[in-house]
Parts: sequence; C-alpha cells; structure tokens
Amino acid sequence: MHEAAPVNPWVALAYLVAGVCFILALRGLSSPESSRRGNRFGMVGMTIAIVTTLVTHDIASLPEIAVAVLIGGGVGFVIARRIAMTAMPQLVAAFHSLVGMAAVLVGCAAYFNPAAFGIAEAGVIFPVSRIEMGLGVAIGAITFSGSVIAFAKLNGNMSGKPILLPGRHFLNLGTLAVILGLIAYFTQDQAPWIFWTVTVLSFVIGFLLIIPIGGADMPVVVSMLNSYSGWAAAAMGFTLHNTAMIITGALVGSSGAILSYIMCRAMNRSFISVIAGGFGSDSGGGAEGAEKIDRPWKRGSSEDAAFLMKQAEQVIIVPGYGMAVAQAQHALREMADKLKEEGVTVKYAIHPVAGRMPGHMNVLLAEANVPYDEVFELEDINSEFSQTDVAFVIGANDVTNPAAKTDKSSPIYGMPVLDVGNAKTVLFSKRSMGGVGYAGVDNEVFYQDNTMMLLADAKKMVEEIVKALD
Ligand code: NDP
Repeated sequence: MHEAAPVNPWVALAYLVAGVCFILALRGLSSPESSRRGNRFGMVGMTIAIVTTLVTHDIASLPEIAVAVLIGGGVGFVIARRIAMTAMPQLVAAFHSLVGMAAVLVGCAAYFNPAAFGIAEAGVIFPVSRIEMGLGVAIGAITFSGSVIAFAKLNGNMSGKPILLPGRHFLNLGTLAVILGLIAYFTQDQAPWIFWTVTVLSFVIGFLLIIPIGGADMPVVVSMLNSYSGWAAAAMGFTLHNTAMIITGALVGSSGAILSYIMCRAMNRSFISVIAGGFGSDSGGGAEGAEKIDRPWKRGSSEDAAFLMKQAEQVIIVPGYGMAVAQAQHALREMADKLKEEGVTVKYAIHPVAGRMPGHMNVLLAEANVPYDEVFELEDINSEFSQTDVAFVIGANDVTNPAAKTDKSSPIYGMPVLDVGNAKTVLFSKRSMGGVGYAGVDNEVFYQDNTMMLLADAKKMVEEIVKALD
C-alpha cells in the first residue's frame, strides 16, 4: 500500500530548493535580459522536483515511468521543433488543456483507488481529501474544455466571434453554484454520481465560459487558463501529498492571475467582465466582420518609404501579428540599422496585446537582437507619436485602431491603442486593404491623409526598403 509522503527532512529540503528555483525562474523571466537565466533555474528546479519524487515515492515502476517520459517528451520535442512561432498561442492553449486533463485523471485515479494515495481509511475517503479532489477535478475539467475552445478560436477552427447564448450569465452562475454545492455535499456522501456530475458539469462550464469571449479579450483568456491550470495542479498536489506540486501550482496559478489582471488593466477591461464571459458584448459589437470604409487611400512603394524614413529625425516602428506571420523581424532590424547609420533615431512601440500572445513582439525583436533600450511600452511612448516624423506600422492593426477610443460598438472599444495617426506620416505595411486584424474591424488610419499603405508581405516589403536605403 502506498503511504502518504513521509515527512522526510531531505525531501522537504529538496522540494524547498525546487520551489526557490521556480521563484528565481519567474523573477528571471520578468525581463528579456535575464530570461535565459530564469529558464535555466526553472529547468534545475523541475529536475530536482522530478528526481526527488521518483526516488522517494513508490508511484509506479521506473521503467514504466521512463517509457511514459520518452513517449510524452518525444511528442513534445517534435511539436516544439515544428511549431511556427505564430502558432505558439494555440500550442500554449493546447498544453494547458493537457494540464487540465491530467488533473481530472489524477482525481479519477484517487477516487477509484484512494488507499493507494493514502487518503482513505477502510474505503472511506477523508472529507478534506474529497474537497481537494472535487476542486481539483472541477478546475481541471474547466481548464480542459476552456483551453480546447481557446485553441479552436486561436487556430481558426472556430470563429473568433463571441457566441452569446441567451441567459448565459444565469446559466453560468447557476452551473457554478451547482458544482460548488455538489462538492460541499461530496464531503457527506462519496457516491460516484456526485463525482461524475461535478466532472461533467465542470467540462460544460469551461465550454460555456469561453465561447462568449471574443475579439480583444482572448489574450486575457489565454493567461487566465494558464492560471487555472496552475490551481488545478496545486489542488492535485494536495491529493498526492506532493509539496513541490502545491508550490509550483500555486506559483503558476498566482502569476497567471496577476498577468491576467495586468492585461485587463492594459486593455481597460474589468477582470470580472472578462472571466464571466461576454459581459458588455451585448451591444452588438462582436467581431462583426469588416465594414469597409469606402474612402480613398494612398499607396506607396518601398522607395517612397525609404525616402521618407531617410529624411526623418525619428521613426517609431509598431510591430504586430503580421510581422510575426511574415517573420520580418530580422529584415526590420537591418532596416533600423541602416536608418541609424543615416542619423535617424529609431524606436519600437510595443502594445501589450500586439501579436497573439503576451510578450510576442518582445520575443521576436529579441530574437533579431534589437537593443532592449530601443523598445518601449505603450504608456512610455504613446505621447511621442505627435512629435515623430514617421510611424512605421508593420503587420499591426487592432492595436493602432482609433475606433477603440471613438466607436462604442467596436469590439475593441475601451482598449488603449497606439496613436500612430498623430505622426507626421504613417507607413502601414500589410498585404491588402481587405485584410482585417484579429477583431475583424476596419481601421480609419488607412484612409488618413498622412497615411501611405505599403501593400505586400511585410518581410518582402522591408527587404525592398533595405535595398532602397542603400
Ligand atoms: P491584428 O491581428 O490586429 O492585425 C494583423 C495585421 O497583420 C492585419 O492587418 C493583416 O493584414 C496583417 N498581416 C498578416 N499577415 C501579414 C504579412 N505576411 N505581411 C504583412 N502584413 C500581414 O494584429 P495586432 O498585433 O495589431 O493586434 C493583436 C490582436 O490580437 C488584438 O486584437 C488582440 O486582442 C488579439 N490577441 C492578442 C493576443 C495576445 O496575447 N497578444 C492573444 C489573442 C488575441 P493583411 O491580412 O491585409 O496582411
């Protein structure tokens, strides 16, 4: 029979060291300069936690575990090598779903064989373990189905539009209340119907919570699901009596929650309205597809762009999702280097939700060795556009859309945006006038007098500008 983890001081110490490594990892990841070191701390911490668990717990035979690690690790390795940088957000959502499913499966294993987990006496599961198990399974199931929907929306298998069911707030709150009530009742009666009803209802609520979220709120959802996956792991840490899992789960859960909160603030959204799903979407906003503004616009060439930027005192580059699709970051840095040689000041303005995942642009620019001191957050640079000669927008759209300030029916209304239209000239690099951004709305800046559209693949366009700068 498998006993609860003995309080072995060496095990406790090893888990403590692993926990400290995870904290140092998070600290390192908070800035691009120290992120590699942070990742290394994370790897060391995880190795300590896994080795300690394997040598001190009689969980399964080591060869069985080795086979599972080889299969899982092999699949993960191949996926990570093959995945395009632009598909990273949906990959992250898919991985979160696995954490959720793992929590549900651990909960099932503990429910059907509680003695092996040391959480029962004569077949009766301890009440506190039933709460831990119920919460773990519920959060895990919500994480799983929510992440599957997030994956489908980000991967384009499902429309990014919010799907608003009538009476959804009532339905969601009612379902949540039933789940919590059943978990409380589970402490009195460990009947299978309670366990299974909690599990099934949690799968359903995860689905219901994410389908009404669309457009600009998706980034918050991804980081929120990250947080849920942490809490699911922490709850399972209690069931498994594994301190390292509790610490890691709590760190992931709380850091994800803090990130969600920061992103909500950056997007000018209330946290409750995002997690309750689709609050404020009733006004018919939604990503209703691009309503074309039928007005004249100006087309420019790479030579025009090179000429304008060469003459400029300052150029602010605004990267977005299209830069990631085109993988234009290296060409962009080359362009910036050439401009700097001409005496032009070059800065990069990063919107908090540019691209498709938090920090997306920072990662790409770091990959192209763009100096960190040229990269600015929205609030630090937004006022500079009005004194800037050229705003060079490359593959960004929603994050520059003034409708976020002026059009109450817009799905991005309320989100702070980069005021590129205030620059003397705006150069807008995208492939076509028809292509819209994630929120599916047209952008008034395209039609401004001071805007010149550079229609081509971003990488191709920047490479041509580099040639024209020679
Ligand atoms: P957008 O999605 O608004 O716009 C991308 C633009 O890139 C489009 O106008 C598209 O136009 C253009 N584009 C696409 N491919 C290319 C290419 N190869 N070359 C040149 N241009 C290209 O991106 P933003 O970064 O401005 O905004 C991010 C959006 O994503 C926000 O709405 C945000 O809420 C959402 N989001 C963000 C997440 C995050 O965590 N950062 C997560 C999930 C969603 P065209 O087709 O004409 O080329």
